[in-house]
Amino acid sequence: MGIAQNILSIKSELPPQVKLVAVSKFHPCEDIEEALACGQTCFGENRPQEFEKKAQALSGRGIEWHFIGHLQTNKLKMVLPYADLVQSVDSLHLLQAIDEWGRKNGKVIPVLLELHVAAEETKQGFYEEEVLDILFRAESFKNISFRGLMGMATNTDCEDDVRADFSRIRACYDYLRDLFPEYSSFKELSIGMSGDWRIALEYGATMVRIGTAIFGPRI
Ligand SMILES: *Cc1c(COP(=O)(O)O)cnc(C)c1O
Repeated sequence: MGIAQNILSIKSELPPQVKLVAVSKFHPCEDIEEALACGQTCFGENRPQEFEKKAQALSGRGIEWHFIGHLQTNKLKMVLPYADLVQSVDSLHLLQAIDEWGRKNGKVIPVLLELHVAAEETKQGFYEEEVLDILFRAESFKNISFRGLMGMATNTDCEDDVRADFSRIRACYDYLRDLFPEYSSFKELSIGMSGDWRIALEYGATMVRIGTAIFGPRI
């Protein structure tokens, strides 16, 4: 199937309130153009250099850009001028650097906090208590807008393990939403990728990040 068909088919299964983030990493701008032509306007990238190049090449096209990869503090200037949402804030150090960048550049940066859940040692992210701690002093991050949580399930064929991960992310999300009702903009739950987005919907995903199932395998 082609890119347009893939998008339309996924969209037909997504509830209207769930945002599709088309993960275009490793794919050329022509593929993004094809997706744009069928009405897809939100794209995700995970490498700062590639993100910057594409955002510049496609500026003025009405794209909503999400950054979804590990971000080093020395690469902020490649990402923050273009990102409509940084989904992958995974350390306090990074959060502070983004806040500082925002202060210097007169911008408020919308972010999701990435929760550490998957079993793999390599997965980045915060533990629940760290997220709690950050939100307790959310006011002190003046140039950050906290929009919700992002998480990745363990990369496994075992559906029970994936469900356990999503369930844990959802529980943390519900807990925080109850605890901080005043942060009405803290409402996004970004879970679900090509292999598990249908399951993620059952756990209340408000955003799904889908690459391979739209653009095909990455080279
Ligand atoms: C690459 C990536 C995705 C998309 O993965 P697919 O399996 O190709 O859909 C989603 N989220 C993050 C954080 C990614 O890095």
